[in-house]
Amino acid sequence: MPPSLLTPAVRTEALNLTSGELPCYVHDLTALHSHAAAVREALPSSVELYYAAKANPEPEILAALAPWTDGFEVSSGGELGHVRAVLPGRPLAFSGPGKTPGELAAALDAGVERVHAESLHEVRMLVALAGRSHAPGRPPVRVLLRIDPPVPEGLLTGSALTMGGRPTPFGMGIEEAAEALRLLTGEGCEGLEAVGAHAHLASGLDADALLRVAEAIVHAAGELFRGHGTALREVAVGGGMAVDYTRPAERFDWAAYGAGLAALARRNPDVRLRIEPGRALTAYSGWYVTDVLDVKRSHGEDVAVVRGGTHHLRTPAAKGHDQPAEVVPVEAWPHPWPRPEARAGRVTVVGQLCTPKDVLARGLEAPGLRAGDRVVFALAGAYAWNISHRDFLMHPPPGFRFPGRTGTGSPGGR
Ligand SMILES: *Cc1c(COP(=O)(O)O)cnc(C)c1O
Repeated sequence: MPPSLLTPAVRTEALNLTSGELPCYVHDLTALHSHAAAVREALPSSVELYYAAKANPEPEILAALAPWTDGFEVSSGGELGHVRAVLPGRPLAFSGPGKTPGELAAALDAGVERVHAESLHEVRMLVALAGRSHAPGRPPVRVLLRIDPPVPEGLLTGSALTMGGRPTPFGMGIEEAAEALRLLTGEGCEGLEAVGAHAHLASGLDADALLRVAEAIVHAAGELFRGHGTALREVAVGGGMAVDYTRPAERFDWAAYGAGLAALARRNPDVRLRIEPGRALTAYSGWYVTDVLDVKRSHGEDVAVVRGGTHHLRTPAAKGHDQPAEVVPVEAWPHPWPRPEARAGRVTVVGQLCTPKDVLARGLEAPGLRAGDRVVFALAGAYAWNISHRDFLMHPPPGFRFPGRTGTGSPGGR
């Protein structure tokens, strides 16, 4: 029998929650603590660990990670304000394409430690805004230029998501970055300091591939800064450590990655290296717990309908996988009507939405699954609830206007 996907605390919650309390996200903070501690332990002490807040910005998660991390990577003004409020005083790095003048001004006002500039235009805005808001005596904001450096052929093709090596909104080519660096080190840049480069090129790579990516980033950053005669002091090499949803017991090889980073740091003794994982830190300590409402036979297969669905747990729909899950049987059946039950060993588990896309897992091994049994979806601690709703990334929600509507109505629909 394969090892359980559930921790004892999660199994207890799954049994104790009443059906009225389902669906429910359960985050095992003890499991998160020990995982984050193990990740930190595997990394050389000279390498900084930031958590990419967009993977899961729940305040309890951020607080649990705080002892093991050096800071947080935020990708919007919303995330920046949120993490500042939850954990005042923790170092922040502000990334993300399409930063608005308002977001940049607010970040400078909030005393953000680092900005990852995505384009020459952003650097121009930063220079103008920092000149206006710079208070003498305040430490300068450290600027890292996000670059899209050349990487060895084929390196990024095995990843789940690619942010570099093709036309994207992310980062700058080396020539544009060189111009940004000239601008940042020229006249009129009070309050800003160009300290290095940032890149986040792919998500879902193994340790070996990610190390080769890190080497390519450090190499390109070195050439960029050397070419300009500026000291390279920091390189953030991104996140993207693989989470294998098809083999939920597997873990990214943090030991190999840490050893490789240590070697890279030794070859670049004047450069502070930083990583910023999201998914691989928090995916494993979150579960989506629900119960079976109906089991039916459709075209020769068993289909189980659970309470909730992909509007709560969008991950399998977004990534096109089967979310790993485990059944926690419930013996009691309090109703006078017969209890639906699966006939075959494998069941397709769907949610309550009226769309054929609301599939959480196909072919789940669940012989005899009955209505009322609990189904617990694992690896639901990252990019799960927060990508399922408009709160993903904490950008402001859209407004609603109805030109031509007569009478008054509240704008915004909020
Ligand atoms: C999303 C993101 C990360 C984290 O990526 P994971 O795949 O969750 O590790 C890191 N850095 C940047 C800039 C990001 O946008």
